[in-house]
Amino acid sequence: MKFFVLSKGDKKSNLLTKKIHSYLQDFSLTFDENEPDIVISVGGDGTFLAAFQKYTNRLENTAFVGVHTGHLGFYADWVPEEIEKLVIAISKSTYQIIEYPLLEVIVRYTNDGKESSFLALNESTVKSVEGTFVMDVEIKGEQFERFRGDGLCISTPSGSTAYNKALGGAIIHPSLESIQISEMASINNRVFRTIGSPLILPAHHTCMLKPVTQSDFLVTVDHLSSLQKDVKSIQFRVADQKIRFARYKPFPFWNRVRDSFIEKAES
Ligand code: NAD
Repeated sequence: MKFFVLSKGDKKSNLLTKKIHSYLQDFSLTFDENEPDIVISVGGDGTFLAAFQKYTNRLENTAFVGVHTGHLGFYADWVPEEIEKLVIAISKSTYQIIEYPLLEVIVRYTNDGKESSFLALNESTVKSVEGTFVMDVEIKGEQFERFRGDGLCISTPSGSTAYNKALGGAIIHPSLESIQISEMASINNRVFRTIGSPLILPAHHTCMLKPVTQSDFLVTVDHLSSLQKDVKSIQFRVADQKIRFARYKPFPFWNRVRDSFIEKAES
């Protein structure tokens, strides 16, 4: 089996990365940065997102595991003390594969008919570069509303506990193949109106944003952000691809939510 370990880059994560690396090689696993079967991120959720974005071109052949060197993460859920157990489980391939849905983002441009596409594990957000963000929101090919405000966040189920949650979105179990649209400070008065509630779309519904007054936008995809110029439309839907987690121990989603936001259960 081929592996890659991505470190957050701080001293603690680098040391642990080195240790995992040498343990795995002791078990005759092969280091392969280009075509790993298993990718271990060492750091936090941000490092896990970076590991995911590094291998979006080979998701079918790669499984991911996260070790946290700071606080418990949503994706980074192994503690450094458990790495011997983790290495043995990897070397014996005694793991289960759990798949979670992803978000596909397609940006189309006005000038040349070109498009860029991205995959998000958490979410994509769209904001204006300056002035009020104004977008026509189409759902399943039909005009739904003209949104005015700070921006919109479109999240995956596993990303629903991240930025989406801070925007008042619902927490969605990742077995529900869906995307969620949540508003960032919408303008609502007698003149302008938006739905005001987060919307949850099933896998066969697409959300399309069409600019009204501007054409340049700040678009984030997980931890990455870019300035998208001459935007004609931005399309969001549940992606065909999924992320594959290598699970070595059960850690149900709702336990993860409780441990992260309410209190850590006694172990
Ligand atoms: P980071 O690593 O500092 O992450 C920010 C926080 O989000 C961390 O505490 C991390 O543990 C948590 N987080 C990430 N994914 C999560 C998930 N799926 N469920 C629960 N918590 C999660 O910063 P970064 O590397 O730039 O990470 C990018 C992420 O930060 C984005 O995908 C976005 O979800 C999140 N974010 C959150 C807010 C907010 O809550 N107001 C604002 C901007 C970005």
